[in-house]
Amino acid sequence: AYVSLNGEVIPTSEAKISVFDRGFNFGDGVYEGLLIVNGVILFEDAHWNRLQRSLKALDMSSDIAQLKLRIRTYLQHEEVAKNSAFLYVQISRGVAMRGHQYNKSISPTVFMYAINREVTDINETFLDTISTPDNRWHRCDIKMTSLLGNVMAKTKAINTNCYESIMVRNGLITEGSHCNAFFVKNGRVFTHPADHHILNGITRLKVVELCNELGIPFTEQAVAYSELKTMDEAFLTGTSTQIARIHKIDDHEFDINFKNSITMRVQYAYAKLKRAYIKK
Ligand code: PLP
Repeated sequence: AYVSLNGEVIPTSEAKISVFDRGFNFGDGVYEGLLIVNGVILFEDAHWNRLQRSLKALDMSSDIAQLKLRIRTYLQHEEVAKNSAFLYVQISRGVAMRGHQYNKSISPTVFMYAINREVTDINETFLDTISTPDNRWHRCDIKMTSLLGNVMAKTKAINTNCYESIMVRNGLITEGSHCNAFFVKNGRVFTHPADHHILNGITRLKVVELCNELGIPFTEQAVAYSELKTMDEAFLTGTSTQIARIHKIDDHEFDINFKNSITMRVQYAYAKLKRAYIKK
């Protein structure tokens, strides 16, 4: 297995970074998680746009053209990327003697790896989740490596045999620790607006597009935790999760016929969109 570190493709065991890397000391960096399906990076431009936005938010310069070249070089070397894989790309601010303030002149540490990942057309799982207070800061729209709030939330879910934590801020459902959350009520889809309290997922964006195309009523409005019982369906979206149905949030069960569900329609439309993208 290989990684790419600062433009060099090297065996994973030889990859080393400084203990003074600001990514290590402060979580001062950004990242993207992408899927490679049959050798094609899924919806890559949307990911690069978001990466650029995250870099800008951290006052870091970006060279997406150079990054894309490095990715191509890396993927030529990495066997797993020929089929289906998860691709992780991280850019930290770089190495400097520790101090909270940053200096714009240092060069970033650019790291990427790919691992084998089976990608199914549709994620058939039916997930149990729990609710958790959303303890994160107010810039959840930046895809950055400081993920402690998400890490705590996910671990709490796993420790209760659940897949994901559904985070709640001021009584409103924001998102999962690594997924966006959607709800369906009387045929209308609801999700939290893409403001500073959620990460605007690429899968989320595709679901919004698909609802518009399919004529499914759609509102970007947060669902209150207290309203959960009135919701007919719920699902999660994310690069790894794709689109997956939620079975339970805490004690509330979504007990519906999925064959006639909006979730199912969106899942099939998303599968078709992926297939079309890969063939392009
Ligand atoms: N929300 C959070 C907090 C995430 O970390 C992620 C992805 O990692 C998502 C949502 C889903 O985003 P995407 O669909 O781009 O993977």
